[in-house]
Amino acid sequence: MTQSIAPFEPIGGAPVREGFLPFSPPSLGPEEEAEIIDTLRSGWITTGPKTERFEKLVAEYCGVEHAVAVSSCTAALHLAVVLAEIGPGDEVITTPFTFASTAHVVMYQGAKPVFADISPDTFNIDPELIERKITPRTKAIMVVDYGGHPCDMDALSDIATKHGLKLLVDAAHSIGSTYKDRQVGTMGDIICFSFYATKNLATGEGGMLLTGDEEVAKKAKIMAMYGISDARQMWARYSPKGSWFYDIPELGFKYNFTDIQASLGIPQLAKLNGFIERRRENAGVYGRLLGDCPYVRLPEERPEVRSNYHLFPLLLNLEQLTIGRDEFVERLKAENIGVSVLWSPLPNHTLYQRELGVNLEDFPVTQDTYLRLVNLPVSPAASADDIEDAARAVLKICGHFAR
Ligand SMILES: *Cc1c(COP(=O)(O)O)cnc(C)c1O
Repeated sequence: MTQSIAPFEPIGGAPVREGFLPFSPPSLGPEEEAEIIDTLRSGWITTGPKTERFEKLVAEYCGVEHAVAVSSCTAALHLAVVLAEIGPGDEVITTPFTFASTAHVVMYQGAKPVFADISPDTFNIDPELIERKITPRTKAIMVVDYGGHPCDMDALSDIATKHGLKLLVDAAHSIGSTYKDRQVGTMGDIICFSFYATKNLATGEGGMLLTGDEEVAKKAKIMAMYGISDARQMWARYSPKGSWFYDIPELGFKYNFTDIQASLGIPQLAKLNGFIERRRENAGVYGRLLGDCPYVRLPEERPEVRSNYHLFPLLLNLEQLTIGRDEFVERLKAENIGVSVLWSPLPNHTLYQRELGVNLEDFPVTQDTYLRLVNLPVSPAASADDIEDAARAVLKICGHFAR
C-alpha cells in the first residue's frame, strides 16, 4: 500500500508561510550542551553515574518506585515482555493503531499479538473490545497512550485483574500526562517511555522501564546488560578498587543507556513541564482557530485526563471535502507546514498480514481514523504564530476543496 502523490504548488501561488515549519524538532539548548561537555570531559561516557541520576529524577517526577533507563522504548518493551514471562504460544492483546515496536517485541519472544480495535474518541484500545479477545493463552494486555492521551487505566486494570493478566503500557508518548491526577508511569505492571528524537523528552535514542516491583526492576537492569549479575558495576570495575571478575547467570541483551544520553535527559526533564504547557497552549490555538471549522474534527481531552499533547491528531470530515487525506497532506506541505500521519496501522503492513492473517478492514475504527488522519505540528519549538500558520493552512485548503 504505497502512496505516491506528486507534490503540489501552493494554492493561489503563495504559501501561507515563508519558511518550512518542521513537524517535531527537538527543543535543545545551552543546558543540554553544557551537560554533554561535562560528560565528555568526565572520562566516562557510557552507563554510569549520570544514568543513575536520570533514573532517580524520572522516578521522582512520576512518583514511581523504580526506573531503569535503556537504549530505546523498543528495548524497554522487549524487556517488559521477557520479564512478564511471555513466550511461544502465548498471546498478548494490543492495539492495531501503534508503531511497530509494540507488536514486534511480542513476536521476538515467539508469542502472538492479538489486536483489539480502538475507541473513536481517544484512538486508544477500546476496553470493551478486549474481553472478547481473551483466550486461555492470553498472558497480557499491552496498551498505548496515543498522542499522550492516557488510556482508561481503571477499566483496563479491572480487566487485567479479573483475568489474571499483566498490564503492560507502551507510554512512548505520554510522559507527564495524568489520569485521575495520577502520573503515567504509576499505572500498570510495567510502563515504558521513549526518549527518541521526536518525543516530548528527547535524548536522541533512549527509553525507560518503570515499575513498582523491585524484583522486576532488578531483573531489568541485569537483562539490559547481557544478563551480567552486577550489571551496573561496569564503571566501578575500572576504578582502583574495582574487580575484573563477573558472572553471567542469564541470557540478557545489550540494551543499556549511556551517560551521554543522560546528559540530554537530565536537562530535558527539568524543562518537561514547561514543554507540556507550551504544547497545551499550541493545542489551544488550534482549538480557537479550527474549533468551528465543519471540515475537521479536533482531538478531545477526556475530563479525567490531562494530556501532554505529544501529538495533535486532526480528523478530516472527508464527506465535506473533494480531496482525500493523502492529497490534504501534500497540500499542507506545499503551504510549508510539516505534517505527518502516525501511523499506517499495523494490520496494513505486509509482515503482520502474513504472520497474523490480519487486515485493516477487520478494525473498522482504526481504518476510519487512519483514512481521515493528519497529525499537525504542536511541539514547543513552534510558537503560537507558527501554529496559527498551520491552522490557516488547514482553513485555506478546506475552503478551496469544500464540497
Ligand atoms: C516512538 C514509539 C516507540 C518506539 O520508541 P523507540 O524509543 O524509538 O524505541 C514505541 N511505541 C510507540 C507508540 C512510539 O510512538
